[in-house]
Amino acid sequence: MNDCVFCKIIKGEIPSEKLYEDDLMVVIKDICPKAEKHYLAIPKKHFKLLSEMTAQDAVDLGNCMKKAGELAETLGLQNGFRLIINQGEDADQTVFHLHMHLLGGQKLQETDYKNKD
Ligand code: 5GP
Ligand code: ZN
Repeated sequence: MNDCVFCKIIKGEIPSEKLYEDDLMVVIKDICPKAEKHYLAIPKKHFKLLSEMTAQDAVDLGNCMKKAGELAETLGLQNGFRLIINQGEDADQTVFHLHMHLLGGQKLQETDYKNKD
């Protein structure tokens, strides 16, 4: 997608702090962290919603989740982390390219997400 910020990050057209990349996904630091450690695991294929996924997308997203778990220690999330996927208006999704938030590096409270300040 031409106007998608995450597609541009994936293509290297917008700079980001990339911590991991393979054929399927990238892991970057969130530009506006909501916890001590806040990463985004972004599948390279552009789609907005879980409901738009093909069967292959589901397999690929499962592999992205598996990789996020495997990277936890490297990312400093060895004590645990919260995995969030915002979907649509009510969840305040702001970038319409499906992505997973990985939040941690501190003891998280129920209300931490989107309410850090
Ligand atoms: P959403 O609200 O759609 O679930 O999450 C979008 C996330 O992307 C937000 O946490 C926001 O801070 C992050 N974000 C938006 N633009 C950029 C960017 O250009 N670079 C990085 N690293 N993160 C971004
Ligand atoms: Zn995109």
